[in-house]
Amino acid sequence: MTDRFTGSFTQQEPIPEEAIAAAVQVMRSGRLHRYNTAPGEVSETALLEQEFAAFTGARYCLAVSSGGYALACALRALGVGPGQAVLTNAFTLAPVPGAIASLGARPVFVEVTQDLVIDLDHLETRIADTGARVLMLSHMRGHVCDMDRLMAICDGAGVQVVEDCAHTMGAAWAGVPSGRHGVLGCYSTQTYKHLNSGEGGLIVGDDPELMARAVLLSGSYMLYDRHVAAPPPAAFDGLRLQTPNVSGRMDNLRAAILRVQLRDLPDRIARWNLLYIAMEDGLRGAPGLRLIDRPGAESFVGSSFQFLLPDWDAPRITALLAACAARGVELKWFGADQPAGFTSRYDHWAYADPDPLPRSDRVLAGLIDLRLPLTFTPQDCALIARIVREEVGHA
Ligand SMILES: *Cc1c(COP(=O)(O)O)cnc(C)c1O
Repeated sequence: MTDRFTGSFTQQEPIPEEAIAAAVQVMRSGRLHRYNTAPGEVSETALLEQEFAAFTGARYCLAVSSGGYALACALRALGVGPGQAVLTNAFTLAPVPGAIASLGARPVFVEVTQDLVIDLDHLETRIADTGARVLMLSHMRGHVCDMDRLMAICDGAGVQVVEDCAHTMGAAWAGVPSGRHGVLGCYSTQTYKHLNSGEGGLIVGDDPELMARAVLLSGSYMLYDRHVAAPPPAAFDGLRLQTPNVSGRMDNLRAAILRVQLRDLPDRIARWNLLYIAMEDGLRGAPGLRLIDRPGAESFVGSSFQFLLPDWDAPRITALLAACAARGVELKWFGADQPAGFTSRYDHWAYADPDPLPRSDRVLAGLIDLRLPLTFTPQDCALIARIVREEVGHA
């Protein structure tokens, strides 16, 4: 008798009733646009920014239309322009090189280690070889590199760091929240991330000039004084006529449902980590499979799970995926020839004309990924782990 898993890897929890009520109230008001405020009113979007700034400890926060928009807006605020090299991880998701390419800039990929973080030795080489001045650091699948060493390398070389925290909202390195090491931190509130507004993004930072530019870029018209977590109006004086409007605002409907969810984030993180631990416990010691080390300085959010099948060939991995799928366990593989769904690899992004990265190729060839939505229980994870373990044993 073989067990089968019957849950869905893509089913999120419902939006909390309190958030639904807040959204209905916004709709009743008719004031969905963030700058459409009654006299004396502070919009839901401005309140979300204030609350998210407090959550991360940042001076300023801007809410935008997507995580990908946040990344491109951050690069624009830094003055990245056509032809410029921007460093980023070889292991990331398509919106990251896409944000770089959207400015006509050139993504230059840095190798990934078998712990799934950026290879800091290769980063140093790439900085020296390209003279790049900006790193878009993607904390892909929630794995945080040694941020102290990374910042020492980048500060020493005059490289500005933008953090892609799509998978690390609520995570930290040595007690510093993810998104607070670099000059700007970017987050996504798209359905599969840690808060769910369908689409959405957030940018945090302490630098008044950069954040004023980001606010103007996002499409503030001349209404930036309706923000509460933006720099003071004087910070906009020299910029307001010089900064193009590249509209990408958040609206009050999304902000209203995010505010309620943000209050629950610590509880969600604790629940995710119970799922992660159940997976890890269930797979520990399985022959042929390598788990990912999580350093002591990292406090992570276990919203997804990865493991490696080192040196397995492609037919064997394909057979394992099919055997797991037949038992209801959907594994994603970063080694496939062709991109599938959300899963693609640096050498699929042909527009960026990437150099071959042999170490990353070796890691990605055996990299398996699965989502842990909060609709799963730790018992579900134990069952999934048992199925994977049995099938790895047979493959
Ligand atoms: C989801 C994601 C983003 C941004 O996503 P949007 O879909 O534009 O909100 C950026 N980086 C990574 C690694 C992601 O997974």
